[in-house]
This record gives sequence, structure tokens and C-alpha cells, in this order.
Amino acid sequence: MHAKTLCHHLSRLSCVTLLRENQHQPERDSSPLPFDVPDETGQPALRCRACGWVVTAEDQRITVNGRHDHVFFNPHGHVFEIGCFAHAPGAVPASSPSTEFSWFPGLTWQVVACAACGAHLGWRFQDVQDSDFFALILDRLVLDNSAAP
Ligand SMILES: [Zn+2]
Repeated sequence: MHAKTLCHHLSRLSCVTLLRENQHQPERDSSPLPFDVPDETGQPALRCRACGWVVTAEDQRITVNGRHDHVFFNPHGHVFEIGCFAHAPGAVPASSPSTEFSWFPGLTWQVVACAACGAHLGWRFQDVQDSDFFALILDRLVLDNSAAP
């Protein structure tokens, strides 16, 4: 008698658990990306050439000191053709902020890398008011027109 009651109790519990799991099933496929800038705007994405990760989007291009693209030399003599972007959610800082040899006087810079594969993509520049932009090496990005509607 006692055992039968317990068994009945257990089966009711598992039934409740099952219902709860069903309720928590996701109702839609979530984006594989941790952000939705390109989808939201319908702008073509700019992807990491090395791995295809979405780094930023066309509409994030901005001008700094009057132009979008700049050519710079680093202290080792390497030439970089960079473009300026307001946001680059797919790039993450990979160094501490520095003011040494800053290409944009008065701004501190940090190396930024692809959030997915770690490839060096460019630099993040920041002023004393914490406003920032990204200077990305243009030939390390590829334009993804397939993201357009
Ligand atoms: Zn990458």
C-alpha cells in the first residue's frame, strides 16, 4: 500500500518535469552571432578574411580627420591601409591601451583581433572622453554581399 502510493507520487513528479521542459524549448533559431548589427541594418557584413567571422558592417564606415581610409607606417616600417569604423563588434582588444607612436595624435590605441580566430585586424583608438573608433586593416576584411536582403 505504502509502496504503491510512493510510485504514484513519483510518476506525477516526472510528468510535471516533462511539461516544464517542453515549455522551455526555444521557439526560434537564434543567430549564431553574439550581435546582430549586419542583420538589423541589412548592411553587407565585413568579415575576417582568415575565418569568415563578422567583424563589422558597411554602414559602420566613418571618416576621421576628413577621410575614411588612411595609410600608416608602424615603427618597424610596415605599411597598413586602414579604414575607420564606428563600431566593430567582432573585434576584441588584444593589448593594453598605449599612447606610443599614436597615428591619431592625442588618442590612445589598442591592438584588436578577430574575436573568433585571433587574427590581428587593426586598432581601436580612444580619446580621453572614452569615445572610440576602430581602424581596421582593409585587406584583412572581406565584403560579404550575401548578407544584404
Ligand atoms: Zn577571424
